Amino acid sequence: GRSLGVFTSGGDAQGMNAALRAAVRMGIYLGCKVYLIYEGYQGMVDGGNNIQLATWATVSGIIGAGGTLIGSARCMDFKERPGRLRAAKNLISFGINNLVCIGGDGSLTGANLFKQEWSSLLDELTETKQITEEERENYSFLNIVGLVGSIDNDFCGTDMTIGADSALHRIIEAVDAIVTTAFSHQRCFVMEVMGRHCGYLALAAGLASDADWIMIPENPPEKGWEDKLCKRLALQRELGHRLNIVLIAEGAIDKEGKPISADYIKDIIKKRLKIDTRVTILGHVQRGGAASAFDRVLGTRMGAEAVLALMNATPDSEPVVISLNGNQTCRIPLMESVEKTKAVAKAMEDKDFLRAAELRGTS
Ligand code: ATP
Repeated sequence: GRSLGVFTSGGDAQGMNAALRAAVRMGIYLGCKVYLIYEGYQGMVDGGNNIQLATWATVSGIIGAGGTLIGSARCMDFKERPGRLRAAKNLISFGINNLVCIGGDGSLTGANLFKQEWSSLLDELTETKQITEEERENYSFLNIVGLVGSIDNDFCGTDMTIGADSALHRIIEAVDAIVTTAFSHQRCFVMEVMGRHCGYLALAAGLASDADWIMIPENPPEKGWEDKLCKRLALQRELGHRLNIVLIAEGAIDKEGKPISADYIKDIIKKRLKIDTRVTILGHVQRGGAASAFDRVLGTRMGAEAVLALMNATPDSEPVVISLNGNQTCRIPLMESVEKTKAVAKAMEDKDFLRAAELRGTS
């Protein structure tokens, strides 16, 4: 049977464990040897105990747990060829030449580069007698399949990334909690949520929680927005509301591209409306805790599909990412979607919002 390795890399997200579990079990079901590679690329570079054979039971009881059972890391070594050479040698020593990479666009870029380099890495390992001619023959090509784990939902080509739905649930719970205390004291709360360049979490949370005002990076407000905000909140109070909720994405900016902070909004509201206003920054709470049912199912479907895609791969097939399109899991070209995702981030940095929207619209 074939051998495959599964690893998680970059920031963790709820649902990664579900994906890991499904990949392991689909692999075993299809007669493969499945190895868990601990601590992302670092474990691949270091080898040894970081690479361990998985059994059906190894991944029992983890489907709902947040984070990742096998750890994740940022790894400088893998960014350099000598690190990737060591990683290739370690993989071959376990007979692995199929990889499921669960991570963000950086991790997938690394995996793609590794695949492109594979042949030359093997040449070097053979020349320096670190692997045998026979091993060179047996593992002559590397298959990779990517899964996107990210609470930000910022990857082009998939409707949802693994973890975004759970983060949304966590945010809604926090807003609901804040609402009860805000009501008691007739306060306004400015709540900052994660998402980097992507306003998905703030927007969806705002819709789901009846927030009074939402600020997202994709829709920078016109000059004078502070007046509009205050008018809106004052109107709510006139209508008899005892509290206000303003949801702001961490990447929120104005038309000039200047970041808008939760503290700035708080100060404006306090000064102009004389409403007792507080800031709550949710932070890593959003990335922790149990995975939602949706993320457990999504991770499971994607993990299983990743292994099927690996088994279908041929030496000259392009690497794919498993994505959700409507309610279907499908395979999309890895580098094309990574490049589009990076182009969106760049357009957002350049404040070219139209271009970012165009790129996203054609995902
Ligand atoms: P997140 O979206 O959470 O940031 P990510 O996968 O984009 O996830 P990165 O820190 O960019 O996170 O990448 C994770 C790891 O992938 C890096 O620490 C590095 O080991 C590897 N990696 C990233 N980019 C490259 C690259 N261009 N070449 C080789 N390896 C890379």
